[in-house]
Amino acid sequence: MKIQLSEVLTGKRTVALGGHVRPDGDCTGSSLGLYIYLKEQYPHIETDLYLEEIPKEYHILRRTGEIKHQIAAGKQYDLFICLDCGDAGRLGFSAPLFEQAAETLCIDHHVSNEAFADNNYIVPDASSTSELVFGLLDYEKISLPTAEALYMGIAHDTGVFQYPCTSPETMEAAAALMRKGIDGSNIIDKTYYEKTYVQNQILGRALLESILILNKKCIVSSVSKREMEFYGAGPSDLEGIVSQLRQTKGTEVALFMYELDTQQFKISLRSKGQVDVSVIAKYFGGGGHERAAGFTMNGSCHDVINNVGRQIELQLQTINTQVDAVC
Ligand code: 5GP
Ligand code: MN
Repeated sequence: MKIQLSEVLTGKRTVALGGHVRPDGDCTGSSLGLYIYLKEQYPHIETDLYLEEIPKEYHILRRTGEIKHQIAAGKQYDLFICLDCGDAGRLGFSAPLFEQAAETLCIDHHVSNEAFADNNYIVPDASSTSELVFGLLDYEKISLPTAEALYMGIAHDTGVFQYPCTSPETMEAAAALMRKGIDGSNIIDKTYYEKTYVQNQILGRALLESILILNKKCIVSSVSKREMEFYGAGPSDLEGIVSQLRQTKGTEVALFMYELDTQQFKISLRSKGQVDVSVIAKYFGGGGHERAAGFTMNGSCHDVINNVGRQIELQLQTINTQVDAVC
């Protein structure tokens, strides 16, 4: 059920905002957008934003320098708002603040979200958490810096207004944010499309080394820790590789993994629609959306391919059986 922000904030003197580990565009945009709005409209409330280091490109947004990357001992808040975060474990370093807060609120659009806060505003059909935040704010009071942050979040989670989660309401929200005077084209170019030389090199390598499995229905690629060290690349430099893999004609699912630590992989799955990858991610302890999901897994690269490939195959088989049954 939709919440009233003013009601949630009534009587609160201190509010903390947090998002998921390795913040992406929507996590950063939604939390920063709400943070700036609260700072501007509720100056009597002490508001802090906690996020891990954000990708360098996102620093074109305003007030990113105010984001806190660690928690002070003994700090407690009247309210903790977690954004774009499917479960409390994904909060990372800010999880203790969530646990100790007098009240908690979760604003999210992950289908895998199990409503883990005291108060939950979860809309799995929404394009992004940024779109949900936009709907909670008083339009007249949205400033340019808030509009820029929310626009970036919406643009990123919709693959620049392309994925099927892009609804007429999404476009209306984006249009309303544009009317605040943002340079939307620059935000998209600088934070989504522009790649550093190293990012392009590692993307090229991942494409070059990719393989097709499951009767060419699934494309797989991986980047090892050694390769990341060789290119001087961090996890945020790998953003976009999985979407590029997904573009491959004839494939249904893209699986991209990179080594977080020795024998530990972060896995990203993307689907064109036939396979529900959120089910697979959940099976392996992660989460996400039907067409974009992720999780971490221990083992070798081959273990990942074997185990995850099996789950993809099971869904593809089900689909084939259904088709056979109709024909
Ligand atoms: P990505 O593959 O870009 O990291 O994530 C795709 C989607 O799956 C995002 O919505 C992200 O929040 C979610 N996701 C990725 N990894 C995990 C994970 O380890 N656990 C959960 N619960 N969700 C994840
Ligand atoms: Mn999101």
